[in-house]
Amino acid sequence: MALHTGSSEPTHPPHTNPMATLASPAVGDAFALPEISLNEDPVPPDIAYQLIREELLLDGSARLNLATFVTTWMEPQAKQLMSDCADKNMIDKDEYPQTAEIERRCVGIIADLWHAPSPDDATGCSTTGSSEACMLAGMALKRRWEAKVRAEGGDLNVRKPNLVMGANVQVCWEKFCRYWDVEPKIVPMEGERFHLDADGAVAAVDENSIGVVAILGSTFDGSYEPVAEIAAALDKLAASGGPDVPVHVDGASGGMIAPFLDPDLEWDFRLPRVSSINTSGHKYGLVYPGVGWVVWRDKDHLPDELVFNVNYLGGNMPTFALNFSRPGSEVIAQYYCFFRLGRSGYVDVQQASRNVAMNLAEQIGELPEFRLITKGDQLPVFAFTTSESVTGWDVFALSRRMRERGWQVPAYTFPEHREDLAVLRIVVRNGFSQDMAHLFFQELKGAVQSLNEESTSAAMSGPSGFRH
Ligand SMILES: *Cc1c(COP(=O)(O)O)cnc(C)c1O
Repeated sequence: MALHTGSSEPTHPPHTNPMATLASPAVGDAFALPEISLNEDPVPPDIAYQLIREELLLDGSARLNLATFVTTWMEPQAKQLMSDCADKNMIDKDEYPQTAEIERRCVGIIADLWHAPSPDDATGCSTTGSSEACMLAGMALKRRWEAKVRAEGGDLNVRKPNLVMGANVQVCWEKFCRYWDVEPKIVPMEGERFHLDADGAVAAVDENSIGVVAILGSTFDGSYEPVAEIAAALDKLAASGGPDVPVHVDGASGGMIAPFLDPDLEWDFRLPRVSSINTSGHKYGLVYPGVGWVVWRDKDHLPDELVFNVNYLGGNMPTFALNFSRPGSEVIAQYYCFFRLGRSGYVDVQQASRNVAMNLAEQIGELPEFRLITKGDQLPVFAFTTSESVTGWDVFALSRRMRERGWQVPAYTFPEHREDLAVLRIVVRNGFSQDMAHLFFQELKGAVQSLNEESTSAAMSGPSGFRH
């Protein structure tokens, strides 16, 4: 048995407690959870399950986590379906042709949502998340740029590719640049402009730009970048003889919000300059982690040499991925959500999140202590900072105070040029109801009041009082 070492007998034999169940800590005492090396002996499955579950209680409640964009609630039927499919290997198209077919349907549905020219011939795939999707899209941009340079007789030994993006990009783009030897050309924030705009993009591109990344929905404040304006400005640049640079839209969050809530906003394949788009199925696609999607405008936008053909029921199935084996559960769960909700279901779920976000933002904005950076009317996400009148505490103190009450609300500073700006950000997801938002707001007001009181009494206690 895997007993604590040190003595041959456990000091507290489990059967001494007549009420001992498997969940009893007394039983736990008798079995050591391995920390750095395997235990010698097996334990019964119920014990393993109970003890690991208990240890995971320390993770806190995902539902009270207002920091993450990732889905924290799914229906029991979806959960069941996911565990039913955990043994299906996504890559094994031959053994699991129906899972492959479901992935294909999902790609088609997403391509249709994003107005791909021919969704019935959609070019795209599932990934483990947006990060992998961005790597694939970035590689395609790089290969296409290389092909262009070669065709023009350029020398790839002297030309160094770059990728243009705002300082608000998610870290996966910096990762892409480092892993694939592309120079990141980061357009900094400026004043009250917290994301990339058309002027910034046009000023940064040159003949070595493999693409411009536009983000539909910035993680810093939930704002949409003006994709159509960026694309139009690049169209103009190309028409006047300047570099002809494609756009990739990082729609990790917004790719599943805008099609339902902002159908008239043109940010997708309706813009001819947009060559590829990614999204995270596990964010507003409403699936548990890890699934992402990437779709190219058409076959020509995905260079052939990146595609591997695997044998699939005697036919050929093209695949493009960084990893090989991965469970089918998340892709099946994505299809479940698509089927279960339909278009109007998605509209309702996303609208509910946006309503909660906008209401909560409005209430917070009315408190004299705060100034809103965004209102939650694009992604259901908003950021706010303290007003000038607040000097005795800051967003970091408030974040810690809310944490004491179980709520996770991240506080952080903005990137270069606006490092002076520190904000709190709230991500409203499906499952964060109006009711929970009300409870949250009451807690927030209570925390602000106590911080105000403490800072006034500290200030009154003399010159060494609380300093910002
Ligand atoms: C979350 C996010 C990513 C990374 O997505 P994962 O699915 O977590 O890999 C990339 N870009 C943006 C804009 C994001 O919000």
